[in-house]
Amino acid sequence: MKVPVKEEFLKRMKELLKEEYEAFLKEYEKKPQKGLRVNTLKIDVESFKKVAPFEIEPIPWCPTGFYYEKEEKAGNHLYHVLGLYYIQEPTAMAVVEVLDPKPGEKILDVSAAPGGKTTHIASKIGDEGLIVANEIDRRRIKILEENVARMGIKNIVLLNEKPEKLIKPFKEYFDRIVVDAPCSGEGMFRKDPTARKIWSLNNVISCSVTQRNILRNVAPLLKPGGILVYSTCTFSPEENEGVIKKFLEEYPEFEIMESELSRFFDRGRPEWVKGPKELERCMRLWPHKVKGEGHFIAKLKKKGKASDYNFKPKIEKKKQKKDLELFYYFADKYLDIDLKMLNLQIYNDFVYHVPTGLPELDEIKVYRKGWLMGELKKNRFEPSHWLAMGLKPEQVKRVLELKGPWREKYLKGETFKLEEEDGWMLFTMENFVAGWGRVAKGIVKNYFPKWLREIEVWEE
Ligand code: SAM
Repeated sequence: MKVPVKEEFLKRMKELLKEEYEAFLKEYEKKPQKGLRVNTLKIDVESFKKVAPFEIEPIPWCPTGFYYEKEEKAGNHLYHVLGLYYIQEPTAMAVVEVLDPKPGEKILDVSAAPGGKTTHIASKIGDEGLIVANEIDRRRIKILEENVARMGIKNIVLLNEKPEKLIKPFKEYFDRIVVDAPCSGEGMFRKDPTARKIWSLNNVISCSVTQRNILRNVAPLLKPGGILVYSTCTFSPEENEGVIKKFLEEYPEFEIMESELSRFFDRGRPEWVKGPKELERCMRLWPHKVKGEGHFIAKLKKKGKASDYNFKPKIEKKKQKKDLELFYYFADKYLDIDLKMLNLQIYNDFVYHVPTGLPELDEIKVYRKGWLMGELKKNRFEPSHWLAMGLKPEQVKRVLELKGPWREKYLKGETFKLEEEDGWMLFTMENFVAGWGRVAKGIVKNYFPKWLREIEVWEE
């Protein structure tokens, strides 16, 4: 390790772990574990296992998760570009398994970028239900959008807000909430030199203050009877059992639940924070005990039955059919979907399918109002990559499977010759959607997004 782990951190861990410390320390000599999670919106696990381009080994606590030990370039593979999987740290996959979201539910991911938990939730609830993915950092939310688009998620809104701003529209709105909190990142030291470098006890304390504030802000957003999962990728008791202890003191309507997944992991350590015994129900994922990096997870339930809080969904304004004309023209010509199923809205010249049942969000910084269909340009509608990725090939009228040199050109963003009628085409690769192109006079203008072009093409 070029950037060493700080002595002060190691001293603390030695005091906490006692006889386990040597085993913990030895882990720093090993490579971090790599994992990928199958995007079941695109392919089921059994089919993925048949086409998996590298050796994979199941991750015990996540039925869609796999270790890939030998392959270094899973992020450059065609299947990654096509959204068949998401690269995710194996222990991080436990968080949404503990959350256990169900189709039809409303779920908040309050600190969502780059999208590991959000995309996992989507994979579990499919097209039924609603995900509100919030990210406070404007730069990071762009990456969140790219991942959401690549995975083809449709029942989602992306917000760019401070958690405290969510209270007004979303009081007692959500069935489940995940707080994957910003933290000091001690559990990621093996793979993240920056986390090692910037670690300090002051930062641990400052993170614990932020974490408590986030929990305070999201607690009112959960329905009574709802589930809140709190997770960090750090070891410090102050950011883990300490945060939960103080939260329970302030919010006695919450209790810690046992999770079925606890059989894979260690228990919480109440003695480290002089806390109640129920903190044992939290889970600690240690690199010297499981194949993965360090994590902490607490599953909390808000006691009581669903209240009669009178949630009023936003009154939908009548659709401005005229403005949508360019979209309808495109949809008539190229799509084979029931347009009545879409709740179309225009926002800054972007056309969205906005999930139904959302509250009024006028005072909220909305980054994406829903599934982005595309943009209204001067005389035409330009479909988005996100639209393509949310569609199945059979839902588009003009589809072409790209092979060989065409495939390579498309993935590099180059134009190429194609003897086809002028207009939009959806391109597939191995029958999975790859993106749009527009034919004009025998030449394809490439609409494969720039942010995806930096990949190596692996032919089958
Ligand atoms: N859930 C993400 C995933 O699985 O890909 C990872 C989230 S990361 C651990 C924590 C996130 O919290 C970061 O994206 C960071 O920008 C955000 N964050 C930082 N300060 C915050 C605050 N005060 N309130 C809410 N989120 C914050």
